[in-house]
Amino acid sequence: MCIFCKIVNGELPANMVRENDDFMAFHDLNPKAPAHILVIPKLHVDSFNEVTPETMAGMTSFIQEVAKVVGIKESGYRVITNVGDNGGQEVKHLHWHVLGGAKLAWGHFADADTKDFF
Ligand code: AMP
Repeated sequence: MCIFCKIVNGELPANMVRENDDFMAFHDLNPKAPAHILVIPKLHVDSFNEVTPETMAGMTSFIQEVAKVVGIKESGYRVITNVGDNGGQEVKHLHWHVLGGAKLAWGHFADADTKDFF
């Protein structure tokens, strides 16, 4: 069972922000911004590649609520989902990073010279 499924079923603890029947939001263990929340569907979905429009609809309003609850809705924030190896996805359970609380830097390549791409 993946680590996020273990959080869903209570086997692993999490610093919870908000939860409803379908989704959970909890603080990232290794925050990359003053506010760094992970939003997951309770039902296991490997990544964005497999998500349905129905789940996306619920995720959208849930993420909007989370941004309000953590106080970053007006100041601004970033919503990211990493997909697969090149996307840097480490946990193979769909999750959205909701990052805010400070001005965020933009963009990087992990191990390549950017001039090779443009
Ligand atoms: P990704 O690289 O997009 O798969 O992101 C996985 C994220 O999960 C990373 O930012 C980790 O810090 C975070 N993470 C891993 N395990 C836990 C956990 N038990 N509770 C909260 N966040 C976690």
